[in-house]
Amino acid sequence: MSKSIISKKKSFLDLTSSELNEILLDVGEKRFRIKQINNWIYNQNVRSWDEMINLPLSLIKYLKSEILLHPLKLVSINGSENDKTRKFLFQTTRGNHIESVLMREKNRTTVCVSSQSGCILDCNFCATASMGFLQNLNANEIIDQVILLSSYTKSKITNVVYMGMGEPLMNYRQVIESGKLLNKNMGLGARRITISTAGIAPKIRQIADDNYSFKLAISLNATNDEVRKKIMPITLKHSFKEIIDSAKYYYSKTKRLITFEYVLLKGINDSTNDAKELVKLLKGFPCKLNIIPYNEIGGHYIRPEIKDINQFLFHLKPAKFIVTVRWSNGTDIDAGCGQLAIREKQ
Ligand code: SAH
Repeated sequence: MSKSIISKKKSFLDLTSSELNEILLDVGEKRFRIKQINNWIYNQNVRSWDEMINLPLSLIKYLKSEILLHPLKLVSINGSENDKTRKFLFQTTRGNHIESVLMREKNRTTVCVSSQSGCILDCNFCATASMGFLQNLNANEIIDQVILLSSYTKSKITNVVYMGMGEPLMNYRQVIESGKLLNKNMGLGARRITISTAGIAPKIRQIADDNYSFKLAISLNATNDEVRKKIMPITLKHSFKEIIDSAKYYYSKTKRLITFEYVLLKGINDSTNDAKELVKLLKGFPCKLNIIPYNEIGGHYIRPEIKDINQFLFHLKPAKFIVTVRWSNGTDIDAGCGQLAIREKQ
C-alpha cells in the first residue's frame, strides 16, 4: 500500500470555532448552521455534504469544494454485512493507515478504535508492533472512527474500547479529548468508554488525578518482571511493581475497578503456577481479570490448547475478583485483539 498525503484540506471536525465563523461570514450564513451540520454528522450519520438537505445549496457547494466532511477516508471493509465482526481500514489525511473493528453482540455494539497508526511499544506478540510507530491520531480522527462505523453499519454504537492500534496513554491529551467528545456529542456515557494501556505507570496516575470517569484496562500479560520484559519491552521502563502500584493508586483515588487483561501465550505465561501467582498478586485488590486466549499472528507464539486454558481458569477459581474470558470474534479476518496491522509491502 503506498503512502500518499491524501488531502491538504481541513476536515470540518478539525476547524476551530473562529475558522467556522469566518467561513460562514464569507458565504453570508449564520452560526446556527454549525449546529445543523453537527447534528447531521453526529446524529444522522451522513457521509456527504449533499445529504444535509436543510443547508442552502450555496453553502453545500462551498463546503464540498473546500472542506472534508470526515478526516478519515475509508479504504476497505472486511467482513460481510451480517457478520458480527467487521474490520474497517482507513487512511488519515497524513496518508497513514489505521484499522477499527465493529463488534455486534445481543445488547451492545462496540467499536474498537485505534489511537495511533502503528505503535512504538513493540510488544512482540502483537501484530501492530510490526508496523513501527507512524503517527498519533488527533481526537477527531479517533471519534471519526466511531462516527463512520456507525454510519456504514447503520448501528447505534453503545460502547467504545481503545484497544485497536496504538498505546492510548502515549497519546494522552488527544485520547482524553476524544473520550470527552464521544461523551458530549455522541451521548456515550463515560462508563461505556474503556481505555486500555500496556502500563504507562505515570499516565495511569495522571488519569486518576485528572479524575476522568472512563473505564481503565491494563494489559498485564505476565506475573513478574522477567516474563513481562520478554514480551512487553515497556516493562524495562516501568517495572511490574511500578505498574501494580500505579493501579492501586488509581483505585485508591477513584474507587473505580480496573480490568486487568491477560493474554494467554502457550508455554510463556499459561502455567498452573502463573495462575496461582496471578491470584496471589491481585489478592485483596478490587479488580476484574479478563483472560484473552492468544490470537495467532503467524509469529512464534501460539494459543494454548483448550484443556490448558481450562486448567489455567480452574486455578483462578480461588480468586475473589471477577474473571472473564474474551474469545475474540473476527479472528478469521484478523480483527481479533492484537491482529491489527497494515502490511505496507503486501
Ligand atoms: N496498547 C494498548 C491497547 C492495544 S492492545 C494495550 O496494550 O492495552 C489491546 C489488547 O490486546 C491488549 O490487552 C493486548 O495485550 C491484547 N493483544 C495484543 N496482541 C494480541 C494477540 N495477538 N492476541 C490476543 N490479544 C492480544
